[in-house]
Order: sequence, then C-alpha cells, then structure tokens
Amino acid sequence: MLQTKYAVIGAGLAGAATAWQLARAGHEVTAIEQYDVGHPYGSSHGSARIFRRVYPQAFYAHLTGRAEALWHELAAESGAKVLTTTGGLDFGAQRNPRKLARVLESLGIYSRLYGAEEARSLWPQINFDTEVLYQPDAGVIDADLAVRAMLDLACASGAQLLSGWPIGSVTPSARGYTLKSPGRPLVHAETVVVCAGAWLPEMLPELPLPDAALRALPRLAVTQQQVLHFPVRDLADWPVFVHMGPLQVYGLPGGRDVDGLAMKVAEHDGGRPTTASGRDGIVDPAARDRLIDYVRTYLPGLRPTPVAEDTCLYTSTPTEDFLIDRIGGIVLVSPCSGHGAKFAPLVGKLAAGLATGRGRVPAEFTLAGSALGAL
Ligand SMILES: Cc1cc2nc3c(=O)[nH]c(=O)nc-3n(C[C@H](O)[C@H](O)[C@H](O)COP(=O)(O)OP(=O)(O)OC[C@H]3O[C@@H](n4cnc5c(N)ncnc54)[C@H](O)[C@@H]3O)c2cc1C
Repeated sequence: MLQTKYAVIGAGLAGAATAWQLARAGHEVTAIEQYDVGHPYGSSHGSARIFRRVYPQAFYAHLTGRAEALWHELAAESGAKVLTTTGGLDFGAQRNPRKLARVLESLGIYSRLYGAEEARSLWPQINFDTEVLYQPDAGVIDADLAVRAMLDLACASGAQLLSGWPIGSVTPSARGYTLKSPGRPLVHAETVVVCAGAWLPEMLPELPLPDAALRALPRLAVTQQQVLHFPVRDLADWPVFVHMGPLQVYGLPGGRDVDGLAMKVAEHDGGRPTTASGRDGIVDPAARDRLIDYVRTYLPGLRPTPVAEDTCLYTSTPTEDFLIDRIGGIVLVSPCSGHGAKFAPLVGKLAAGLATGRGRVPAEFTLAGSALGAL
C-alpha cells in the first residue's frame, strides 16, 4: 500500500495547482491522474484560455488580482511562459461595458471605454456593435504548459505523481481513506482532495459522503463545448475578447496549438448536455455553422474557414460559482462553469488551505455560505 498524507484525485488545472500548493508548503502529497498528464478528454488541455480581470461581479474581479499574482509566481518559479498579456475587450449589449467599467473602477482596476467607431479604428479586425471596454491586463493562459509546470514544481518539492491510475473508489479506513484503482496498489491518504472535473458527478456515489451532503450539492451540469480556430488575415496583435450580443462568443489567440497563426473562437453557452464517460468528442455541425457566420459578420480580421476544431467539457453549477468545500476528510473542488482556468493557482491555494485546515475559502464557494447549497 502507498501511504500519503494528501491524495489529490485528478491532474487537470485544479488538481495540478492543488498538488503544487501543498508540495511547495512542504506537505506530503500524491497527485493521481487516470490518464496521461495533458490528455485531451477533460477541461484543461490545449494552449489557450482567457485570463481577464473583467467580471460583472466585484467578487470575481477582485479574485482575478489574487490569481494574477500567483500566475506570476508560477512563471517565475517554473520559467514557463504560462501567461501572455494581450489586453482584453468586452462588448455587446448584454455584456454592458459601461456597467463592467464601474465594477472595475470600484476596485481600482484600470480600464477604458471606447465608442464603437473609435474602437474599430484601434482594432479594425473586429466589427464592434456597442461601446467597448478595454482592460490591459487580460491575456492568454497556456493551460497545458501550466498543468505541466505546476506538476513539475510539485514533484521537485517531493510530490508523487501517479498517472494512468484511475481511482475507482474511496473508502474510509483507519486515520483516513483507502483509494482503490483496478490492478494497482492501494493508496492510503489522510485527506483526499477530489479535483475530478467533469467526472465528479459520476464519481460522487463512490465517495464516502453523508447523504445530507450529497443532497446539499448543487446540480453539476456537464456540457460538451466546441472551439474553432480561424486563421488571422494578418499578424496584427489580437486581444482576447468577450462579446455578448446575438451570441455569447469569446475569442483569443490560439497559441502553440496553432503555431500562433489562428484565433480560437467559441460560444460560451452553445454546449450539449453530456457526461464525461458518454461524450462523443464530435463538433456539433450547427454550432460550427453559427461560429462561421459569426466570424463573417464580426471578425473581418479572420478568414472564415476554420483550420482546427476541438471539444472540451464544462462542468457548471447553476450560478456558475465554483464549489470548493470540505466534508469530513474529503475536499471537493469543482472550479469550472467555463471560467475556472484563470483562477487555477488560486483554486489550488484555496483547496490546499482547506485540506490542511490552515486556510479559508470565500463563503461564495462553500455549501453553507453560498446560494450553491440551495440549488
Ligand atoms: C472549451 C473550454 C474553454 C474554456 N475557456 C476558459 C477560458 O477562456 N478562461 C477560463 O478561465 N476558463 C476557461 N475554461 C474553464 C477551464 O478550462 C476549467 O475551469 C478548468 O480546466 C477545470 O479544470 P479541472 O482540473 O477542474 O478539470 P479537468 O481539467 O477536467 O481535470 C480533471 C482531471 O481529473 C481526472 N480524473 C477524473 N476522474 C478521475 C479518477 N477517478 N481517477 C483519477 N483521475 C481522475 C481527469 O482525467 C482529469 O484529468 C474553459 C473550459 C472549456 C472546456
């Protein structure tokens, strides 16, 4: 039997970050991943996720600052370029750029509003349909690189990584829990941090959680999202953007996945309900057509013929708030809802704090302190 103080199940962004934060604080930790690190079946693969400070809720906008500081620490400690700053644009009637500007101003975060015409002269690659909010700190997180950097740092601090190691069940045992994986040695851990992404809903029955806790959990909806990469017409510097108009669309430079030559464009809300084990990995043709039409209308700086496409899983709570809470010796971490990547190192820090009992999590992420427990 393998013995560890903290077992972290899942080595996507959340699990890698938790292992890094536990190991750098000197704790004995084992990260356990069912596939190879960097696999494409969950939520953290590929070279592009948006980092942005802009949120309609001051709570999240504030947390982006804490996350940004940790991204810089990760870059400094690992030497990996995990975050590339590009600046970000928010526009569209439903995005309400003026209201977003007020939220940022209340927190002392710099941003600037432009009229649609002025914005078009500055970023001619985009057809803006409303005022535009510019925020300079936004950029692109290289998710795949970040996962590897955090795991490398964790291992350099003594963590153990077990990959190709699917955990089938977690059962209570003397002073902790026994984690079983078919054909593998048992793992004994005092505390278990579950960062299983879209697999969490299917895993819940295999976790030793009281019925009352299970009933209190929010509904976790898994959807298969699709992302397309469109080639840039010229190599003008592209910002990341969020546009909430006729569609809810975001776009960002695609990074290494497309040799820096294409923008990743996707719908935030165009996903198909599925499960982690049942998803088909096929891009929905109707969603593809919607995005091609969108690019023709709003993104003249792109060629409207996708050069690459991919699917990815969102695991969303009804409020799109994260769930980070502790029940007995089990810490549940579900930080997705389509916007968790930017917070990854902070999520790891919060989860590590809950695991060790030395840190606190904002009430918004807990069952007792948030609206989550009532949903
Ligand atoms: C298309 C798409 C675009 C996104 N864009 C953005 C963005 O621009 N900005 C942003 O901030 N966020 C974005 N997100 C959200 C962000 O990517 C997620 O919040 C984040 O990747 C979630 O990471 P995770 O570690 O919780 O899940 P995952 O990365 O899925 O990791 C869970 C891991 O657990 C492992 N696992 C599961 N069950 C077991 C088991 N029984 N035993 C062992 N291992 C197990 C899985 O194999 C997996 O590796 C996006 C997400 C998607 C899908």
